[in-house]
Amino acid sequence: MGARSGNNYLSSLKKLNADIWIGGARVTDVTAHPAFRNCARSIASLYDMQAERPEHMTYRTDDGGRAGLSFIQPKSAEDVRKRGRMMKAWADWGCGMLGRTPDYLNVSIAAMAAAHEFFAASDKRFGANIQAYYAEARNHDWCATHTLVNPRTSRAAGWAGHTDAELALRVVDRTSDGIVVNGCRMLATLAPLSEELLVFPSTVLRAEPAAEPFALAFAIPCNTPGLRFICRDSFDPGRSRFDYPLSSRFDEMDCVAIFDNVRVPWERVFLCGDVARCNALYADTGAVVHMMHQVAVKNLAKSEFLLGLAVRIAQVSDSLSLQHVRERMAEMITTTEVMRSCLRAAEADAHKDARGVFMPARPPLDAARNLFPRLYPRMVEIIQLNSSSHLMATPSQADFESALRPDIERYYAAAGADANERVALYRLAWDAAGSSFAGRQVLYERFFFGDPVRMASALVDNTELEPLVERVKDFLKRTD
Ligand SMILES: Cc1cc2nc3c(=O)[nH]c(=O)nc-3n(C[C@H](O)[C@H](O)[C@H](O)COP(=O)(O)OP(=O)(O)OC[C@H]3O[C@@H](n4cnc5c(N)ncnc54)[C@H](O)[C@@H]3O)c2cc1C
Repeated sequence: MGARSGNNYLSSLKKLNADIWIGGARVTDVTAHPAFRNCARSIASLYDMQAERPEHMTYRTDDGGRAGLSFIQPKSAEDVRKRGRMMKAWADWGCGMLGRTPDYLNVSIAAMAAAHEFFAASDKRFGANIQAYYAEARNHDWCATHTLVNPRTSRAAGWAGHTDAELALRVVDRTSDGIVVNGCRMLATLAPLSEELLVFPSTVLRAEPAAEPFALAFAIPCNTPGLRFICRDSFDPGRSRFDYPLSSRFDEMDCVAIFDNVRVPWERVFLCGDVARCNALYADTGAVVHMMHQVAVKNLAKSEFLLGLAVRIAQVSDSLSLQHVRERMAEMITTTEVMRSCLRAAEADAHKDARGVFMPARPPLDAARNLFPRLYPRMVEIIQLNSSSHLMATPSQADFESALRPDIERYYAAAGADANERVALYRLAWDAAGSSFAGRQVLYERFFFGDPVRMASALVDNTELEPLVERVKDFLKRTD
């Protein structure tokens, strides 16, 4: 099939009928349920963009079809940039608030398939499996979620031989058909709106035989028997676009995934029991770099959107000339330009890897992913500081449509905007900086790509620092 339409996505989701729970009840149709239907429509709109702008959003595959550009295995630096532009179109459409547009995982599946020999070195079948899975995912243009982190009751209890070993996802049986897995994985964002679940390793496992049952990489349909998703509260309050412009469109939902003797056929297993390869998977296949490309694009789209919002707030509140407002806006401009520069540098320095696939340069992407968890909360804080009590002077659409309208029109107008525009702007600001949706966005940026403390530590390990140390040593020896 190749690049799909929004309708194709929605009808596939409806048929899927995965085991999803929210508020103590099983969801029968996510495309109609108030917690999910709006975001489902948003994802559908992304797919529709592929049909509306095929030259921009898709590419021609070797078999002559057209697939979504995020599935490309780039053969040139221009392919990397083309993919970046396509991802930016999706990210802009969601104001940067949809972190899990399908490109996030499409790029990782493409990278892993290109690195099939990495999997084949563990078991010949696994190399063929990842390639076949990539072809299938691309042909169906599936929407996928992923889950990496095991639950933890205490830090003292690890995966091996302690309580957590009973909770963490693990292999409990191997048959001629496949493996059987049991346990739990924390957080699969977008799970109710996804067709496929990718279960990949991220926690660094100790190189001991006891870790082997936890060393896993596989993919299953979200409606696989025994797989259940438990949702958090919905942050889509079921109100109008006017009242909650972001939450009513982009609440992508986060779930815990529970596996109750789930059968995974061998064709869907990519690694099993290979601790060393599980620990090396993201780095050695290059998947993490391609995912960071998507993240850098999203960071830019999100920064640009919040900067535009801050400027409009300053215009409407007639505060553009105030020094402290200008200073804060300069801070947001700096954040935006740093994100743009990281993205551009990564694309400009894209290079061919050992497998002949072009990948963006890693150092600027690492810089972006280590900076953004700190810069994003500050942007949100600036929106709060510059908006102040105006965030609370926000009558709803129902108020506008009531007998209150004349009062609202009189008292809520601003210098550069009538009451409707001004209230709409501050309602947007609230949804970006104050609502539960906004709070989740901040939490997302702090943690979604891993714990920032350990990410920082990994950056130190991955950066070639010795040449810089040598320069310092040389300088200390200098006598002139
Ligand atoms: C909104 C949201 C969406 C997410 N979506 C997904 C998803 O779709 N798929 C997925 O797999 N994961 C997802 N994640 C989870 C994400 O991968 C984890 O949050 C991240 O890896 C951190 O792990 P943790 O939450 O278990 O925190 P913990 O590891 O429990 O850390 C909690 C705190 O302890 C500190 N800490 C822990 N260990 C150490 C240490 N050794 N040294 C120093 N400090 C330490 C951390 O810095 C942190 O402040 C999501 C997270 C969020 C918030």
